[in-house]
Amino acid sequence: MKDIGQRFDAIIIGAGPAGSTAAYHLAKKGYKTLILERGRVPGSKNMFGGRVYIEPLKEIYEDFEKKAPIHRWVKKERISLMYDESATTIEIESTKSTSFTTYLTQLSQWMANQAVEKGAILLSEIRVDKLYRENGVFKGVVVEDERVLADIIIDAEGINRLLLEEAGIVERLSPDHVALGVKEVIKLDGKNINQLFGLEDNDGLSWVLIGDITKGIPGGGFIYTNRDSISLGIVLMLGEAIKRIDRHIYLLVEEFRNHPLINKYVRDGRIMEYSTHLIPEDVFALRPPKLYYNGLLIAGDAAGLLLNQGYTYRGVDFAAYSGYLAAKAYDYAHNNGGPTEENLREYTRLLENSFVMKMLKKFSGVSKLMKKERLFKTYPELINIMAGKLMHIEYDSYKIMEALKEAKKGRVGWISLIKDLWEVSRKL
Ligand SMILES: Cc1cc2nc3c(=O)[nH]c(=O)nc-3n(C[C@H](O)[C@H](O)[C@H](O)COP(=O)(O)OP(=O)(O)OC[C@H]3O[C@@H](n4cnc5c(N)ncnc54)[C@H](O)[C@@H]3O)c2cc1C
Repeated sequence: MKDIGQRFDAIIIGAGPAGSTAAYHLAKKGYKTLILERGRVPGSKNMFGGRVYIEPLKEIYEDFEKKAPIHRWVKKERISLMYDESATTIEIESTKSTSFTTYLTQLSQWMANQAVEKGAILLSEIRVDKLYRENGVFKGVVVEDERVLADIIIDAEGINRLLLEEAGIVERLSPDHVALGVKEVIKLDGKNINQLFGLEDNDGLSWVLIGDITKGIPGGGFIYTNRDSISLGIVLMLGEAIKRIDRHIYLLVEEFRNHPLINKYVRDGRIMEYSTHLIPEDVFALRPPKLYYNGLLIAGDAAGLLLNQGYTYRGVDFAAYSGYLAAKAYDYAHNNGGPTEENLREYTRLLENSFVMKMLKKFSGVSKLMKKERLFKTYPELINIMAGKLMHIEYDSYKIMEALKEAKKGRVGWISLIKDLWEVSRKL
């Protein structure tokens, strides 16, 4: 194996939000930083639902709001429980917003450009094949038959984490620990979007849909309005999907798009993109035993640092923030004798003291809750049947308790219902 003859302070694997943010902060401090990205351009291999929470990004990027590719500010939130051809929806509207919609491709490219502007070198279409280790110390990466050396390696390779698996740090991903997302981007005129969803200017909508659109499999649908397109897709717990779906998951997305309550929003649109990606789900189960080793830090999805709040994912801001903290931890180690495991432990200390670990601990029960079939099948069904009895009045009307009793008959007992309500109220 040949050394390329040039040594870096830091090599970052992956130009997603975690990797590029780490690179940006390292380059800003003057460290000689190399980002290696296997995609044609940063973001070309990435995919997400569509909404990012802004506060952490404002802290780590200067003038983020002014410069970043923000499509719309989410001011309308919808959560719908679906059953058959009906939906019971909660809509929350506000003049304030703490999140925006965007394309992850554009945001990833923007983040990578920020790092490059600060002096980082970005090499795209380069796939790292292996982490290079000497006497237990990570010293570089292997690309084909060449070795590139650095003082610190930051692994931000995302959820597949094949390099960590090859290095014996993590085990092969289990389908029970991840979800699968399938998404379409549907081109629609911006004015049309505003009219259809009751929005103004660059206000946006985030819409989560739960119920029989996923055929009883834990997961849900999502719709986000971008500037002049709509992101529409489905997320399914992969382990359950493998056991219970006998056709291509894409067909579920098609059925979702053609659902009579959804189709009216998208029928004038044109599908311009289709993508699929894994999402960390049981983040505690898939997290590497440690996020710091001699010469190596792990950030973003590869580290299992994604928050699932049940009705929303926070992956991008969590990944970016962990990249920022990884850069800080390396800076600390560098100024205190070098990137030994002991010095790099600083990374976990920083993470533990940040909102990242605090939120992950606070919502640690969610992934178990999300495996409960009743939440995705029985309750959307029950609530829609109950709403139907209350609203579709012919001669006689139902009282609320009467409608509930009728709707729950044969579906769920009182004890299970109360237990589930209690669990949801504690975990979400
Ligand atoms: C369907 C879906 C919906 C989501 N919805 C949201 C949402 O609405 N909001 C939100 O905040 N988050 C959402 N997320 C999560 C979010 O996308 C991720 O948490 C976030 O992108 C993680 O960033 P990252 O930098 O850790 O990894 P990634 O974005 O996956 O980036 C990893 C990068 O590493 C590169 N790479 C991998 N291996 C190698 C290698 N060997 N050599 C070189 N390069 C390599 C990849 O090409 C990629 O560019 C969603 C995810 C999915 C799949």
